Amino acid sequence: MNDRTLNRPPTAIVVGGSLAGLMTSLTLSRVGVAVTLLERSGPGRSRGGGLLVSDGLVERVTGWGLVPGSPRVPTTLSGGMHSWHTIFTALYAAVEHDPGVTVIHNARVTSADQGDSAAWATADDGRVFRADVVIGADGHRSVVRAAVAPSHPDATFAGYLVWIATMEETGLPESIRGHRAFDQNVFLGDDDAMLLGGSFPGEDGGTERGRRTIGWAVYDSTHNDLLYRNGNVQGSVVHHSVSADEIPDELAEQLARMGRGRWSPQWTEVMQASLRAGRVIGTPISEYVPHHVVNGRLAIVGDAAHVATPMTGSGFTQALDDAEVLADVIEAAARRGLDGRLIADALLKYEKKRLRSAQSSVQSGQTFSRRFSPAA
Ligand SMILES: Cc1cc2nc3c(=O)[nH]c(=O)nc-3n(C[C@H](O)[C@H](O)[C@H](O)COP(=O)(O)OP(=O)(O)OC[C@H]3O[C@@H](n4cnc5c(N)ncnc54)[C@H](O)[C@@H]3O)c2cc1C
Repeated sequence: MNDRTLNRPPTAIVVGGSLAGLMTSLTLSRVGVAVTLLERSGPGRSRGGGLLVSDGLVERVTGWGLVPGSPRVPTTLSGGMHSWHTIFTALYAAVEHDPGVTVIHNARVTSADQGDSAAWATADDGRVFRADVVIGADGHRSVVRAAVAPSHPDATFAGYLVWIATMEETGLPESIRGHRAFDQNVFLGDDDAMLLGGSFPGEDGGTERGRRTIGWAVYDSTHNDLLYRNGNVQGSVVHHSVSADEIPDELAEQLARMGRGRWSPQWTEVMQASLRAGRVIGTPISEYVPHHVVNGRLAIVGDAAHVATPMTGSGFTQALDDAEVLADVIEAAARRGLDGRLIADALLKYEKKRLRSAQSSVQSGQTFSRRFSPAA
């Protein structure tokens, strides 16, 4: 690292434009960092499932709407459960309104590296993006992690998958639309099959019966042979989810059998409707306990840094904590006149503040995984 004091705003490349990448871009921009966000896919994506959000999330990560004269938050989120899609849309709208963040889609990063005066990310088409720091928010199969922790680069398969979907109630059969079975979050099952289900505001924000979004996840350790056969899991590494066209025809019947005596028939019907609508994906669960989340000018956040079973319900909050702490330490360093050594020191402070909590949230989930996976 050289000791050149910067007379310009600090710069960051954030790799990965999902929830962790969007939140990190916004918190960094809030403290004056000029951010370039690289995302391998095109704009506009969706994913199943719901997440618990605290009130005022978008205000918190942007700093907007908190003091008179600051910009208005384009899409606010109330506290409570929301679909992944609703949260993504609100954060993405904020990023689009933020002049401090430049989003580049269709930029698939293949490696990250660093020198004395910069860090850089290289895309598969040969483009090289340089900045003071590179932050990997590129999920459980992170490329940036390979440069941060070369001796411990891979998350490993936890031994089961989660079938997951969301359905608008308006798209459900009349017999179960608006049913009171969906009024409360459920957590039902045993060590062989487990259902997490609940409802959250529908696409139009409606919370009354008949207008909600119903979300469900079934933990399943009986389809691991399918995952290995189709290459979803190779060795101990998860490569990709089970897409709608890979889902076995008999899954609806199997889910119904799993549900018998474990959860009410309305939940089985929602699952069958989701399968018919092609809304179900199967996500093989992986886990990663970090040893390091920083190497010089490179750092990782969100699932790139720590992957816990969704059973912990902690991945999103951990990603938010990463984003906030990272911005705090970079802001403090920038106030002292940011130079190469200070950048590395600031990132090490991030590691010091976040590592223990990230490790223990993954480890707490491993207790469940060891019991639930068939290898246990
Ligand atoms: C089935 C399931 C259920 C879950 N349920 C919960 C829950 O109930 N509560 C909770 O708190 N958490 C839950 N989580 C975890 C939570 O969703 C994540 O921890 C959180 O969303 C942060 O994800 P992320 O943005 O770090 O990673 P991801 O969502 O994986 O995003 C990574 C992004 O990086 C991009 N990318 C990847 N590689 C590259 C590359 N080489 N170049 C450029 N871009 C790249 C991807 O396209 C993607 O946009 C769940 C996760 C799963 C899988």
